[in-house]
Amino acid sequence: MAHGERIAIALDGVGKSFGGVPAVSGVSLEIVEGEFFSLLGPSGCGKTTTLRMIAGFETPDVGSVVLAGTDATTVPANRRPVNMVFQHYALFPHMSIYDNVAFGLRVKRVPRAEHAERIAQLLRVVALEGYEQRRPRQLSGGQQQRVALARALVNRPAALLLDEPLGALDVKLRKQMQLELKRIQNELGTTFVYVTHDQDEALAMSDRIAVMNRGRVEQLGTPREIYERPRTAFVADFIGSLNTLDVQIDELVGGCCVSRFDAGERVVASVDGRPAVGERVRVAVRPEHVRIGPMGSTTPADGSRLGGTIAELVYLGMYTQFHVDTAAGRIVSHRLADEPVVRFEPGAAVTVSWPSEHATVVEPAQLSS
Ligand code: ATP
Repeated sequence: MAHGERIAIALDGVGKSFGGVPAVSGVSLEIVEGEFFSLLGPSGCGKTTTLRMIAGFETPDVGSVVLAGTDATTVPANRRPVNMVFQHYALFPHMSIYDNVAFGLRVKRVPRAEHAERIAQLLRVVALEGYEQRRPRQLSGGQQQRVALARALVNRPAALLLDEPLGALDVKLRKQMQLELKRIQNELGTTFVYVTHDQDEALAMSDRIAVMNRGRVEQLGTPREIYERPRTAFVADFIGSLNTLDVQIDELVGGCCVSRFDAGERVVASVDGRPAVGERVRVAVRPEHVRIGPMGSTTPADGSRLGGTIAELVYLGMYTQFHVDTAAGRIVSHRLADEPVVRFEPGAAVTVSWPSEHATVVEPAQLSS
């Protein structure tokens, strides 16, 4: 966190069980004012329960929820300075768009004289000016979701909590709404806490992401940190496709471990902890970082380099997947369609390589000896 940033939401050691089964365990995190923060993970990992504890719809069994510096752990939902948007936006079908948005103001007893101006401002922000008198069924799914956003934002909450808000939309509309949401958040400067199981969505929209697994936060960081330097095999695997190689450390040099194979071949990866020479580790590298060239072609001096044979080629339009069998196991390389790659066929002898900064040790490998 940069100096001077204020904490909008802090969770400290929060836990919640249902019928003795833990849904969330020991979650601690801080969300900065104005941040777009995502809780990302597979179904059942505890994202929604975490969000509901921030909203006040669930009370934690242990730990505390602090909102804008004030302990809110036991404050009821309607007295918290936050608002929630759901996947099923539940607009009132018989009311106009104007009245749907005004509903938020009436609940909070905002003086009537202020309504028109605040509603006009929000409808402008969500790009729905001129739709005031329509009914929800006269709008598209994306437009209805924007009305739900306007209704949730019209009370000027300190934070907006969004639970898979784009889940009901088709893929194309979802992509458009991702950009739209980001624009709205930028314009208003409101803190957004966003729950999703879609890694692309989280990577595209968030300032920071907490990746959750089995009720715990496995890693918290910027999209780039999470993508480039996953700390656990779970995070690495959940965020996009990945190569993993189980290797033995032969040498430790300047923050990197080196595993040596015949004929100058090697796997180099950066390590955070203090593994020992002789230990077996799991190294992760993303397919887009693996370069491929004819056998014996020149490779970067300090990176990984392995000889191999092409086992399979898969054309995927934008890019081609090369599956290569090497001394360290099978490695997949993604090369873009317009890259000048020699046209390899299955069975061709090749060299794969990648810079050391793109390979990380994700966790000690559980290997039988
Ligand atoms: P999804 O994306 O499927 O909504 P999630 O990551 O949001 O998943 P949660 O909804 O937080 O996960 O649920 C975490 C665990 O707690 C799940 O095993 C779920 O079945 C359980 N759970 C959640 N709410 C309740 C409840 N009210 N009663 C009993 N169990 C619950």
